[in-house]
Amino acid sequence: MIENSWREQLKHSRKSLKDLNDFTLTETESAFFKYEGAEDKLPFMVNSYYSSLAENTPDDPIRRQFLPTIDEYTVTDCELSDPLGEKHYSPVPRLIHRYRDRVLLLTTDSCAMYCRHCFRRSFTGHDDGVVSSDELSAVCSYLEEHREVNEILLSGGDPLTCSDRKIEEILTSLRAVRPDIAIRLATRIPVVLPMRITENLIRIISDNGPVWLVTQFNHRKEISVLTEKIIASLVDNGIPVLNQSVLLKGVNDSVPALEELFQKLVRMRVKPYYLFQGDLASGTSHFRVPIERGQEIMSQLRQRISGLALPVYAVDLPGGGGKIPLTENYAIRQDEKNYYFRNIEGQEYIYPREI
Ligand code: SF4
Repeated sequence: MIENSWREQLKHSRKSLKDLNDFTLTETESAFFKYEGAEDKLPFMVNSYYSSLAENTPDDPIRRQFLPTIDEYTVTDCELSDPLGEKHYSPVPRLIHRYRDRVLLLTTDSCAMYCRHCFRRSFTGHDDGVVSSDELSAVCSYLEEHREVNEILLSGGDPLTCSDRKIEEILTSLRAVRPDIAIRLATRIPVVLPMRITENLIRIISDNGPVWLVTQFNHRKEISVLTEKIIASLVDNGIPVLNQSVLLKGVNDSVPALEELFQKLVRMRVKPYYLFQGDLASGTSHFRVPIERGQEIMSQLRQRISGLALPVYAVDLPGGGGKIPLTENYAIRQDEKNYYFRNIEGQEYIYPREI
């Protein structure tokens, strides 16, 4: 039975092999729990709401996101513990200032479950806890001095695992020093623990707007009746919701899976914003899809769904190179007079240079 209180859900999360008696584990899943060789690993934790969305089969797209396998201990040569090189851009604790006009705040290292593909696994689920009032005040001083910053991304971990009081403190402190700043709140809570989105939380977020909520649905099966209800409440209260999926092998690396997800999101008034190529986080190679395959999927999606439903396929370049779109190249050639393009049906079109 699903308990409705989000705190109860978290309290009774499954955290070890003995909590998985109702699942028939595969050898690779069991081997993860028995392996003793690695000290620094992403913990296992899933709440009963999210695990109840899964079927008891190894290839279930929900199960693959919460149940670890021994593959997480395979670290390839190209993988990094800090794949985006964020540590090099931290002027004050918990703040990353990588791009001129944007900063990222690591609010907490806790999540409502630990996604097995998490690229921030070197920070997530360790012992950093929640951002303290002193750390927050150092962040606010930095933002007061750095007027070139127009946007702050609240991330983690998952910011919405913090108490209402802490979330209000973070938002009101930021608003007090920078009423002009756009706030982006990155959270998987609508997907993995929707009962956390209470009326009080919605009030706190909308009172401190504009706040853009950016979530991560990776599969249509992650959208329950409850999810639809809380997304509707967020949007009805003036909180725009965007979705950033991750392209994951065995979860959503097919045209029908992504088409169904993106169209459903649009019907829920959630804009599919990005589809991310998997980052080179340690122990995640079993989830990564080759870029050519991702481009092929996007090319087919472009023929089947509208621009509104189509996200940008992008990669965050390893080592701090930034985000770039992995768009297909439609330009064939150019001469003194014209550009020549091929459209999605493969036909050639001309656009003049002199306009
Ligand atoms: S919710 Fe986000 S930060 Fe937390 S484990 Fe999942 S992907 Fe990582």
